[in-house]
Amino acid sequence: PETRSLHFIEEIMEADRESGKHGGRVHTRFPPEPNGYLHIGHAKSICINFGLAKKYGGSTNLRFDDTNPVKEDVEYVDSIREDVRWLGFEWAGEYYASDYFPLLYDYAEYLIQAGKAYVCDLDEEGIKEYRGNFFKPGRNSPYRDRTPEENLDLFRRMRAGEFPDGSRTLRAKIDMQSPNMNMRDPLMYRIKRAHHHRTGDAWLIYPMYDFAHGISDAIEKITHSICTLEFEDHRPLYDWFLQQDVDGKFFHRPHPRQIEFARLNLTHTVMSKRRLLQLVTENHVRGWDDPRMPTISGLRRRGFTPESVRAFAERVGVAKRDMVADVGLLEHCVREDLAGKAPRAMGVLRPLKLVIENLPEGETHWIEVANHPERPELGRRKVPFTREVYVEREDFQEVAPKKWFRLAPGAEVRLKGAALVTCREAVKDAAGEVVELRCTWDPASLGGDAPDGRKVKGTLHWVSAAHAVKAEVRLYDLLFTAKDPMDVPEGGDWRDGLNPQSLEILADARLEPALGEAAPGATFQFERLGYFVADPDGKPGAPVFNRTVGLKDSWAK
Ligand code: ATP
Ligand code: MG
Ligand code: MG
Repeated sequence: PETRSLHFIEEIMEADRESGKHGGRVHTRFPPEPNGYLHIGHAKSICINFGLAKKYGGSTNLRFDDTNPVKEDVEYVDSIREDVRWLGFEWAGEYYASDYFPLLYDYAEYLIQAGKAYVCDLDEEGIKEYRGNFFKPGRNSPYRDRTPEENLDLFRRMRAGEFPDGSRTLRAKIDMQSPNMNMRDPLMYRIKRAHHHRTGDAWLIYPMYDFAHGISDAIEKITHSICTLEFEDHRPLYDWFLQQDVDGKFFHRPHPRQIEFARLNLTHTVMSKRRLLQLVTENHVRGWDDPRMPTISGLRRRGFTPESVRAFAERVGVAKRDMVADVGLLEHCVREDLAGKAPRAMGVLRPLKLVIENLPEGETHWIEVANHPERPELGRRKVPFTREVYVEREDFQEVAPKKWFRLAPGAEVRLKGAALVTCREAVKDAAGEVVELRCTWDPASLGGDAPDGRKVKGTLHWVSAAHAVKAEVRLYDLLFTAKDPMDVPEGGDWRDGLNPQSLEILADARLEPALGEAAPGATFQFERLGYFVADPDGKPGAPVFNRTVGLKDSWAK
C-alpha cells in the first residue's frame, strides 16, 4: 500500500500522461557503461527506471552505453544482465549504443552539412585553452570556419584512418561564449585506435557520451531519460543535438526528456566503479562479488535479497539534492525481510565442548523444533541432543559478572529446545585455557523446561558434537572505518579509511547437520547470532557461511 506522496519524477510522468505527450506512453531505459559491476547506486537507478515504467504500464530498455572501447568488456555485460534480473526486473529490449554507430555517423555528417559541426585540429591542450573557464569566455577555434565541404572531407578521412589518434576531433558549432561550459563547442568524435568489444576494429572514431546518449534515447523512442544530477548542465546539450534534426528526418517526436535525480551514496563505502575496481585489483577485497563490496553481486553473496534491496531503494526516496544513505538503513532492510523468511537453525561459531556426565554415551534424544517461530508452514525439524554438545565459547565465564545468565561454575542454563544443564566444572589445559565444561542435566527438563517451574533465565544455542558439521564462517564488518572514505585529510589517501578488521574467518564452526547440504544462497537465522547465507565456496559436507547481518538493529525508525 502506497502512503507517500508522488515524487517529482512521478509528477512529471503523470502530467505527461494527462497532456497526452508521447501518446500517454512511458518508456525508460537503464544505460550502464559495461566497465564494471553494478553497485547499490545503480540498483537505485534500476528501481526508478523499471519501477516507474511498471507503475505506469510502460517498459524499460537495457542499454549498454558502450561508446568508450578502452575500459569495456563482455564480462561486465554478463554481470550487469545477471544483476538486473536478480533484482527482479525484465527489460523490454536489449540494446547497445555501439549498434547506433552508423546512425550517429550519418547524423554527424548531416550536422556538418548544415554547418553545425566542424573538424578541429587543436590538440587536447589547445581545446582546453580556447574553451576558457567559468570566469573567462572561450575563444573560437581557428578551425571553426572551415566550409562544410572541407569538414566533410576531413571527417571522412578521420574515419578512414588517415590521421593519428588525438590529432583531430569533430566538434559541435554552438557558442564559445556560453556561460554553460558544455555548450562551448563540445566534442562529438575523437580518433581512437582501440578494439571494441562488439564492433571490433570497424571504427577508428568514437562518439562522445553527450552526443551519443540523447540520440540513443531518441532512436529507442524513450520518453523519460532519467539520469543523475551531474548531468543537469548537460541537458541543454542533450536537447540541442536532438533539436538540430529540424525536419524530423532522423528522430521520432516528441523527443525524450532528460530528468535528473540525486545519486545515491552510502556511508562507510566508496561507490564509483573506478575505485571499486581498484579495491579488486589491489586485493583489498577478494573480487567484485566480495560480500563487503557495495556491488549488487557482493550484496547477493552477502545474503541480501532482491526484496530488501528494492525496499531500501524505496525507503531512500527520490531526491533532487545529493544524499548519503546510512548503511544501517540498508542492513535494517535486509534484517526486516529475512526475519519473516529465514528458517531458524543452530550453529556455534567458536565451539567449546560441554559434556553432560549423567547422559549416557550412545543415547540420542531427537528434539523437534519449529523452523520458524511465527510461520508453522515452514515446518519442523528434528535436532539430535546427546552427551557431548558444543556451546559458544563466549557463553562461559569462569568468574561471572553481575547479571550473567549464561554458563559459569554452578550456574544452570537452558540449551535451547533441549534441556536444563548445570555447569559443575571447567576443565583447563596446561596453559590454563578452558577446554571443556563438565555438566549434569535434569532429565525431567527434556524439551527445555523443568516440571517444577523453576526459572532459568539463560537460553543458549548448541549443537550435538557427534552430529555437527564443521564449517567455515565468515564474519564481516564495515569495509571502511571512515564514514566518508573520500573525506581524507591532506596528504592522506581514501584507502587509509579501509577497515583492517572487515573480515574475520572462523574455520572451526560447528553447525546443525542439515546445514551441511545447504545450497549456495540459502539463508538462515542462526539462533542468537544473526542471518547467514551459504557461500558458493562451500562443498557438500563442508559448508561455508557468510554472516549477512547480526540480529541487533541499531537503526532508529
Ligand atoms: P560510477 O560513477 O559509479 O562509475 P556511472 O554513472 O559512471 O557510475 P553508469 O554505468 O554510467 O555508471 O551508470 C548507469 C546508470 O546508473 C546511469 O543512469 C547513472 O546515472 C546511474 N547511477 C550510477 N551511479 C549511481 C548512483 N550512485 N545513484 C544513482 N544512480 C546511479
Ligand atoms: Mg556513466
Ligand atoms: Mg563511470
